[in-house]
Amino acid sequence: MDRLWSPWRSEYVSNDPAASEGCIFCEFPRRQDDAANLIAYRGEHAYVVMNRFPYNPGHLMIVPYQHGSEPQALPPETSAELMHLLNRCLTGLAQSYSPDGYNVGMNLGAAAGAGIADHLHVHVVPRWNGDTNFMATVGDIKVIPERLQQSYETLAAALREETTGGSV
Ligand SMILES: [Zn+2]
Repeated sequence: MDRLWSPWRSEYVSNDPAASEGCIFCEFPRRQDDAANLIAYRGEHAYVVMNRFPYNPGHLMIVPYQHGSEPQALPPETSAELMHLLNRCLTGLAQSYSPDGYNVGMNLGAAAGAGIADHLHVHVVPRWNGDTNFMATVGDIKVIPERLQQSYETLAAALREETTGGSV
């Protein structure tokens, strides 16, 4: 487990200057250009954003609009929608990438490896058999923007089409 979750300890969400000032997870949905900010889906209480520096292709994060670090502080409807959006992400990723498995989870607190500890978020990381070895080989290669944008279009379309995990 330790090795499996270790990529999340170095969590890069954005190279956006705003990340060093305010809260990037509050800032993203306030902006109008979802494609530029890689917001793949907007729900009623939470949204889905692609990690700009993904551990694997299709690395998504589900983020409540409400700022806060504790899941137990979220209203029930927000908690419920996180699970609905998780299902939507899993179905969309299955359709788009056919992964062999997923890591789903939260790093709560800096001690647990949260890169942005003040605003909780659920990671959804598609996994493929042998991808740990693969990443060890090519880990230094930057994700090129064109490819990220292509992934965004694919995933955003898949998440819109998916109907089983809609808003509550
Ligand atoms: Zn925030």
